[in-house]
Amino acid sequence: MVDLLTIVYATTNEGKLTELRALLGDLPVHLVGVKDAVHSVPKSLEKGATFEENARSKAEAVSRASGLIAIADDSGLEVEGLGGRPGVRSARFAHDRATDAENNAALLRELEEHDGSARKAQFRCVLAVANPWDAGNIAIVEGRLVGSIARTPRGSGGFGYDPLFVVDDDGRAVAELSEEEKQRVSHRALAARALEPILFALVKRQIGDVERAVG
Ligand code: IMP
Repeated sequence: MVDLLTIVYATTNEGKLTELRALLGDLPVHLVGVKDAVHSVPKSLEKGATFEENARSKAEAVSRASGLIAIADDSGLEVEGLGGRPGVRSARFAHDRATDAENNAALLRELEEHDGSARKAQFRCVLAVANPWDAGNIAIVEGRLVGSIARTPRGSGGFGYDPLFVVDDDGRAVAELSEEEKQRVSHRALAARALEPILFALVKRQIGDVERAVG
């Protein structure tokens, strides 16, 4: 089937683009990255207090700039004993230009005195969809992966906090999972699955519009 809708994913990360394309593979949509859809990429808008705010403002800005339906994400780690931190500051937990290793070290330090439920954590991914013909009506979905923070890093796969995040019901750290295993359970994959009915409805609406136009 031909692709019925072009949708822009508000990311410059090729890996994320490839991943979302694979996750939405059953839908007749053509997913392009932000660099292929707008002349100048809107500056990072991740200044909000919540994942929702950040995803919503990115989706709105990119949809407005491109005239296309836009998907934007925001994700990160929330730890129970830290009151939900690092949250929206996950990429910058140790400091503004922190590496993954620095963030992991900072997390272990902060949790040194914590045991049990205080080490419970979740990865959360929020996706927002903005439609230029229906501005202001932003759809929001999310996915979560629940687990706990280990005392030492394990495994070599993934990125970010993966070596410290032990998945409930599995017992392995995310960095010990294969790419396919992570794709099946990750917060991003679950959010993408929740996105499918929303995109399907947009495709159906597009088919309806085309049928009406050609009579
Ligand atoms: P972003 O919203 O995808 O840019 O993610 C923000 C930050 O959250 C990343 O820099 C990581 O520190 C953390 N993060 C998000 N998703 C993951 C994941 O799947 N594994 C490990 N860390 C993650």
